[in-house]
Amino acid sequence: MRLPEEWPTDDAPRPIRAVWIPWPIAVICAPLLWFMPKRMGAHFGEVSWGTAFLAHVVWVVYGIGCIGIATECPEYGIVGYVTGRSRPPEASWPMGLGEVARAPMALLARELNNKTRRAKDIWEGLALFIVVELGVMLLALSLAPYATAGERFRRLYLRCWRLTLWATTSLAAFGVVLQALVLAFNESGHLSQQAIAEALWLVVPLYVAWFAWVWICSGLRYAGPAEGPAWESRPPLCNRCGYRLTGLGVRDRCPECGTAVVVSLPAFRQPPAFATAASWWGRAEGYWQTFSGGLFRHGFFGQVAIRGGHSYARRFVIWLCVVSGILMVVIFLVTYGLLLTCNPQLEDAFTHSGPTKLHIADPDTMLALLATPVVAPVGFILLIGLSSVLAARFRKMPFQGCVTIAFYHSGWLIVLAGCEVLVMAFLMWADQVHPVQGSVWLPVLGGVPAPVLLTLGCHLLPLGVLLTGIGRLVRSWRRARFAHC
Ligand SMILES: [Zn+2]
Repeated sequence: MRLPEEWPTDDAPRPIRAVWIPWPIAVICAPLLWFMPKRMGAHFGEVSWGTAFLAHVVWVVYGIGCIGIATECPEYGIVGYVTGRSRPPEASWPMGLGEVARAPMALLARELNNKTRRAKDIWEGLALFIVVELGVMLLALSLAPYATAGERFRRLYLRCWRLTLWATTSLAAFGVVLQALVLAFNESGHLSQQAIAEALWLVVPLYVAWFAWVWICSGLRYAGPAEGPAWESRPPLCNRCGYRLTGLGVRDRCPECGTAVVVSLPAFRQPPAFATAASWWGRAEGYWQTFSGGLFRHGFFGQVAIRGGHSYARRFVIWLCVVSGILMVVIFLVTYGLLLTCNPQLEDAFTHSGPTKLHIADPDTMLALLATPVVAPVGFILLIGLSSVLAARFRKMPFQGCVTIAFYHSGWLIVLAGCEVLVMAFLMWADQVHPVQGSVWLPVLGGVPAPVLLTLGCHLLPLGVLLTGIGRLVRSWRRARFAHC
């Protein structure tokens, strides 16, 4: 068999057809996206710009009003109305359904009237609005690697921006859930105000996780024109040096670098082990193989499917982030526990707040530990997304392939987080049990406070992991830069 002029493009994704949704219906039907993001995302992604922006502003403002109702007067919210808990002190105000629906806006209007007295307040409000919108644009950029279907980057980014605008409409749902929780807590009666506030703070990470789910799922299906690198023809190139192999046989070698032609065939690249495993155990084992392969195995990026392998890489990275949150807490607790067991002051450190700030029994530390398994994965997903966009801008490779490699490489970020948690547990223990004081005299810097020196010294470990990870990523890209062809 001789290698053809071009490889067949039958593995390119097939875009679906978007349903046209007229603007008033799209704005009202935004809740459909919250609960069926994968199904509805492709259609909402194709709605006009004006509608997406209008829905974003209307729902976010309404959501802020709902949160205000939850904190100020939960009885006047929609939940209070539906469950029959609305007990107005005076009979004049509410409660028809229309009034309940308008209550969040009424509350906002009252607050605006009370707060905006000077022109400076308006400028501050405007500045806040711009910062929020810039944040939305940045979020959209982090979504792009997860949502790419192989279209051109500009089109991809605009679609992600629109989807992010739609995802922010879910803030209203958060406000309503908050109202229900405040009402339930108020009813139970035996919780202190501080305990209620802390319990409510734990709802925020759950909302963040839900938002991330809606946001990522909405980008999974693509409904645009089949234009871009994924649908373009590709000549058979040598995977190592990029030499054009047209006309050579499969048993030949590359005339330029001597690499066997067989390793440059599309069939040589296979999906990772977890994607093809039949059992749960096989999948777990496959995940581990892919994780360690991306981290250490020399030939990993020469064999794993790059073009057309994006969906596996995405699944891999999302699971990795989800597991890493739990892992971070476990590493922290085990390290801290082990260090304390080695120390005679064990009981003291667990029961007293001690002279220093950091403490395991501190409510803030407990809240942070509880929130980490939810917030850390979302943070990783954002960070990996954003860094792969930035990194992909420097490579001469189609965006999708570049991102696929970055995704398989994400194990480095998780190792980095693990090291950081280890260092934090150690520093917290040191601060608790053997506080370091005084300063150390160094030749060039002069007197440096010892705690600063200790912190910096301990962070050399995460820094080393970070630099190794970046170095390996660049090398993997170089190895797989002709893999899309
Ligand atoms: Zn070659």
